[in-house]
Amino acid sequence: MIASPIPKPVSDELQTRITSQAEAARRLSNKVVYGGRLRDARAREQIDVENPATEETIGTIAACGREDVEAAASSAQEGFLTWSRLPVRERGRFMLRAADHLEGHIEEIARLAAFETGNALATQCRGEARTMVDILRYYGGLVAEILGTSQVTEADRMMFTRREPLGIVGAIIPWNAPLMQTTNKVAPALAAGNSILLKSAELAPLAVTRIFELLQDVLPPGVANLVTGTGEEAGRLICEHPLVRKITFTGSSAVGSRILHYAADKIVPVTAELGGKNPCIVMADANIDKAARGILQGLRLQRQGQSCSAGTRIYIHDSLFDAVIGRVLELIPDFRIGDPLDEETQVGSIISRKQFERVNSYIEMARETPGARILCGGTRPEGLDRGYFFTTTLIEGVPANSPVCRDEIFGPVATVARWTDFDAVIAEANDSQYGLAATIFTENLPAAFDFIARIEAGFIQVNQFAVAEANIEYGGTKMSGMGRELSLASMIQHFTWSKTVIVNTSKN
Ligand code: NAD
Repeated sequence: MIASPIPKPVSDELQTRITSQAEAARRLSNKVVYGGRLRDARAREQIDVENPATEETIGTIAACGREDVEAAASSAQEGFLTWSRLPVRERGRFMLRAADHLEGHIEEIARLAAFETGNALATQCRGEARTMVDILRYYGGLVAEILGTSQVTEADRMMFTRREPLGIVGAIIPWNAPLMQTTNKVAPALAAGNSILLKSAELAPLAVTRIFELLQDVLPPGVANLVTGTGEEAGRLICEHPLVRKITFTGSSAVGSRILHYAADKIVPVTAELGGKNPCIVMADANIDKAARGILQGLRLQRQGQSCSAGTRIYIHDSLFDAVIGRVLELIPDFRIGDPLDEETQVGSIISRKQFERVNSYIEMARETPGARILCGGTRPEGLDRGYFFTTTLIEGVPANSPVCRDEIFGPVATVARWTDFDAVIAEANDSQYGLAATIFTENLPAAFDFIARIEAGFIQVNQFAVAEANIEYGGTKMSGMGRELSLASMIQHFTWSKTVIVNTSKN
């Protein structure tokens, strides 16, 4: 059984949308943002940007090198000096105005993101653009909450701490949810009084460039700066730059480890939000329909499974396995696969040929595994011959030590397994290099709390498999990273530093 594609001719309306996104992509090509405006990059070397739904090149970005990174860092340093000296509530007002301004451009930003990422406009990009605004507004409202502590230890001595901004925050983001990732970095950095220098992902740079362009309409020059290019060049140069006093990174665990090495040489703090291979356990007492819908929610089909928190290791109690899987297989065809800009599309295309081939390679591995069975999907959808479209795939019978079970595939692929012993299934769920998200479906409160206590994951849910949002702290353990995002506490902890002050108040 496969998710149903939309093999239909391109309507006039869809064609108009595609044409206008193509114009926007051309306008934003080879541009960077620093010194308060969108400008041509100094770098001459370029990288193609593709629409993964059509495999057509829609623009190019500059492969920024030392010249652009230096200029952007100087701009960010000037921005920091202005921004950090503003009264905090004024900073907050700027951020709220920036949120309002971006809100006025949600549709435009969402369409551009759909065009370059392959994520569906209707189910992913529009909602993600709203979340982007929400995160900026949330942090804009928190600026006056950056509090230190105070302590009166003796009658003539007072001690207190002050939280100070760090300076320029270097930010590096992935392509899978670029709008949300942008404000995950920009909003807490700015709220805490830092300026930011961000590098977008090579595969999804254009909507982020537009966001930074829009931010210049509201923020003082130099506060929000953007370069484009490769990780090895532009990303590394940002991390190594002496004026960059903090690195916030989201991406793979392998690159996260490189980032920590760069930071170690300079001794600067790092927030690293990395990969995941997240378990989902269905207990014998679970509500079948709730569990089936939750499993689908966890597959993150609105991003073709390209989500760090996707639930891709599914363990269902043996007594419920057939019923739950039967219901999941009934529901999968409801997800319509097609052009991301089409309002009827719920599932778009995988980001790139490389990622498409990676997903396929794991399917091949499963096909060659004795005892493994592909319950649905495993192919390109019928009628969609162009673009990196892939059907939702569930695989049963893969041994726990297979790379199919252990690696982060980052596509619409999950393994399903039966279990009978709770201790054994918890041990198997924890037997992973990752520790990002985990979910349990159960109607039994003590079982849920036992799971919460024993599971090695930073983002745990009971009876649902939702995505993170503002005010819900997010982050992992083990190879899934260090640090947290999306909360007041994480902003204070990761985007400020602390001064301890002792005042001797005695008269003599
Ligand atoms: P990636 O690690 O390949 O790239 C991420 C970013 O790092 C890109 O901008 C890239 O250019 C840059 N980069 C690459 N090499 C670099 C280097 N040597 N120095 C500096 N920067 C470098 O990841 P990706 O393929 O873009 O994204 C997918 C990964 O992101 C998955 O592993 C996914 O789980 C993870 N992710 C994690 C979270 C989270 O919050 N934990 C959220 C989204 C995505």
